[in-house]
Amino acid sequence: MEKYKDIGFKLTPQRLAILDHLDGNKEHPSAEDIYKAVSKQFPTMSFATVYNTLETLRQKGGVIELTIDPGKKRFDPNIEPHHHLICIKCKRIADIHGNYKLTVPNRERADFEIVGNHIEFYGICPKCKAVKN
Ligand code: ZN
Ligand code: MN
Repeated sequence: MEKYKDIGFKLTPQRLAILDHLDGNKEHPSAEDIYKAVSKQFPTMSFATVYNTLETLRQKGGVIELTIDPGKKRFDPNIEPHHHLICIKCKRIADIHGNYKLTVPNRERADFEIVGNHIEFYGICPKCKAVKN
């Protein structure tokens, strides 16, 4: 939780509960998912509180907003650069941590100095693949 204080994020009990749920969470939850989980502990918490907390955190760089699920924004507390795999059936998002070398040829770079990248791979996860339909 220290890292959140370091980025100037004021900690209230409700915010702490949200951070607690996010910390080390690899599920890439949506705001709705987080609200559902945290409101069990804080029944008076509103969805707006969850949403606003995520938005403030995002602005301060404490969480990354993923837009790869067109149905809803997903959030990633892992702010280290990494890539993602998304299941087109169940929308599960998995991490890719390997540091694979990706280059853009000079002629395509438009004189940009490239400082990062984020690749989204789409596919069918093993669970969905196992379901015969
Ligand atoms: Zn799936
Ligand atoms: Mn991730």
